Formats: sequence, structure tokens, C-alpha cells
Amino acid sequence: MSDDVSRALFARAQKRIPGGVNSPVRAFRSVGGEPVFVRKAEGAHIEGADGKRYVDYVGSWGPMILGHAHPKVIDAIVDAARDGTSYGAPTEREVLLAEALCEAVPSMQMVRLTSSGTEACMSALRLARGFTGRSLIVKFQGCYHGHADFLLVKAGSGLATMGVPDSAGVTEAVARATLTAPFNDLAAVKALFDQWGDDIAAVIVEPVVGNMGCVPPAPGFLEGLSALCKSRGALFVIDEVMTGFRLAFGGAQERFGLGPDVADLTTLGKIAGGGMPLGAFGGRADVLSKLAPLGPVYQAGTLSGNPVATAAGLATLALLRDNAAFGQDPYAKLEATGAALEEGLRDAAKSAGVPVTIQRVGSMWTVFFTDAPVRSWDDAARCDTGRFGRFHRAMLQRGVYLPPSQFEAAFHSLAHGSSEVELTVRAAREAFAEAR
Ligand SMILES: *Cc1c(COP(=O)(O)O)cnc(C)c1O
Repeated sequence: MSDDVSRALFARAQKRIPGGVNSPVRAFRSVGGEPVFVRKAEGAHIEGADGKRYVDYVGSWGPMILGHAHPKVIDAIVDAARDGTSYGAPTEREVLLAEALCEAVPSMQMVRLTSSGTEACMSALRLARGFTGRSLIVKFQGCYHGHADFLLVKAGSGLATMGVPDSAGVTEAVARATLTAPFNDLAAVKALFDQWGDDIAAVIVEPVVGNMGCVPPAPGFLEGLSALCKSRGALFVIDEVMTGFRLAFGGAQERFGLGPDVADLTTLGKIAGGGMPLGAFGGRADVLSKLAPLGPVYQAGTLSGNPVATAAGLATLALLRDNAAFGQDPYAKLEATGAALEEGLRDAAKSAGVPVTIQRVGSMWTVFFTDAPVRSWDDAARCDTGRFGRFHRAMLQRGVYLPPSQFEAAFHSLAHGSSEVELTVRAAREAFAEAR
């Protein structure tokens, strides 16, 4: 499916890089093809190694909400780099970004910067354990919080089970400290608290799941989790690495009207770094004050708060607050593009006679190849992944680059306009027919 240049690069890559990629899902294995090697990107488009252009709905898996290579972000990066790329000493931009993040997400009184979302989630949960003096973590089946050992755990069958490692190399002892429950199932979490309440340090959740495809929370689910945590002395951690600055400037917490006392801790990444490596975790000041050097919970990073990454993040956040830059509120524009895409794709599937369920929250969406709503991992697992693979390949052939997995949300950006939507819907009419 990929071009000759990509195919040659992939052959070379596989000799020196395991699977030819530096992050597994890039390998296109679940859609049965080979990856397109990207040589550059601009706005809503990426360009393959052979020069073929694609409308991009991966957006670097979330960060590129402005579109690729926004001139103001690139200028900020270049200007910052000219002053040196890393000092290992504090800078003004770290203060500015910390202030901007806490202003955007009012449940965050203090914040620490990291270099990735993985580090942010891992560190937030270490902090939760250190603060509460408890050892267990509750996560949801199908939610991804980075690749720290204790987070690579999914549930077995049944209502909720003790964790079993999802990856070789994760010891059972580590996995056993992670309890899992089905997403959107408050009763299952209650049952976990009834059994292990005094040992549960934190519950972590993706407020809108992106990592099993786009799955919104049932009304009251997030508030219910928060209340459970409060009544049992555990911390509630909202992982907004994907949703932060994506669903609203203040993330899912703003979009769903969650007050500042709903989340104890929040993790950020992706958009917050404007396409450079950056993550963040923040929350209640009494909790954050337990971090070294103030407190006993150790956390560190050579490149944390990197001067180039903070410049990219600040430039991105400034644009997301600048209605004039997009002729309207950026989030209203994302919503309008999303609605047009959703309607066009639904219509295309219907005329091809292919049963799909399209789920979308703002600029996050998934075409699930199933006729039933997807509320949890078990629902998602019922999708026809073979059909998704055929659809994916047919779209790629027609210049539309979708996430190469049924279980990953697609994103559009502020650079996607009506011509991209039209091209996508036109391609989908044929691709759904081919996937039949
Ligand atoms: C991407 C993601 C992470 C991990 O971030 P990395 O920067 O890839 O380490 C964590 N949580 C969620 C919800 C994510 O989408």
C-alpha cells in the first residue's frame, strides 16, 4: 500500500529498529499494510517519502491541533533553539507555561513539567501513592496512560479483576498493584473500593477515552468517580494528555463543567508541548508539595521543562486563545469541522450499506465497524477489525491518512477546512463500498 520509497526505507529500518518503528502502532500491523514514511507536513497534510500528499487525521497522535508546522510555532521553536537547546537550570518560559497550564485547568494549583505523557502519568501516580501512603491504583480496561510497568495492565474477564500483566517484562508483583474496571461502570469501581478501599491510592481515567477509539463518559461517571475517591480517601487523577486543550482550552474538565475540586491531579502532554516532547502533572498544592525537593516523593528529568519544548507549548496555547487567528473561536471551528465530517462519513457508510457507529467529542472521533454503541472495551472489541483494515487501506490509497488501528481516535485540526472534509467524504464513499 505504501510507496516504493517508503517500502525501501521500511526494509532498511527493520534491520536496525525492532519492527522498523520507534513506537509499535506506527507499524500498520493491525491494518495489514506497511507504514508511509513521512518527509514533511504542513497544515492539514502530511507528505509521504515519494511526495504523495495525504489529509492527516493522526496529527502526531494528538498534539497538532493547529495543523502541522504552524509558522508561529515554528518561529518560536527556532528562536528558542538559537538561545541554546537545554540548560538543566530554570528558565522564565517554565514559569510562564506553569502559569498558563494552571490558569487553563483550575483544578491545578501547582504543576511539574516532564518530557512525555508517560512520565507525567507515572509520576502523578507515584505522587498519589506517596501522598496517601497506599499502594493500589485503579484504572479502566482500554484506557492507556503511557507505558510505565504498572499501567500496562488490562482486566481479565468478569466484573473487575486483579491486574494481569499486558506485556512481557512486567512482573506479576507490579501488575497486582493495579486494579481494573470496565470504563463507564461506576458499580464495578464501588465494588473495588468495598474490597480494597483502604489500600487504594488513586483512580486514573481518560475523561473521554481515545485509546480504545473515541468513547465518551456516561453522564455522571466522572463526578461519581471523584465522589467515590473523596469518600474513601483516594486521589482522583484525570489523564488529560490527549483531551487537554483538545476538547476545550481547559480540556475535558472545562467541556463537562467539572469544578476545580473534582480532580485531585491532572496529567497533560501532547498539545501542551506544541509538537515537542513535553508532559505535565499538576493538581492540589498540598499534594504537589510532597514532591522533591519540598517533600519525600522523588521525580526528576534532565530535559524536563526543556526551553524549546516550552516555547512550542506557549506559542500553541497563545494561538488557541486567539480567536482572531482563526476568524472565530478555535473550538467552535473544530466543532463545526467535526460535525461536517461526522455527517459526511455517516452518510457515506449508510449509502454503502456498511453498519458503523461514529462517536465524536469535538475534534476526537472514531468510525467503529459495529452497529452498536461503544461504551467500554468489551463493546470496542466486538468491532470488525478486518473491515476496518480494508477501509483504512482504501482511504490511504485515496489520500486520507487515518490512525492505523480501529482502537485509536482520529483527530482533525484547525487547518482542516471544507476542501479536506469534501475530499475525505468523497474517498469514504468509495472506501466503505470497498470494505463491504
Ligand atoms: C499519549 C497518551 C499518554 C502517553 O503520552 P506519551 O507522550 O506518548 O508518553 C498518556 N495518556 C494518554 C491519555 C495518552 O493519550
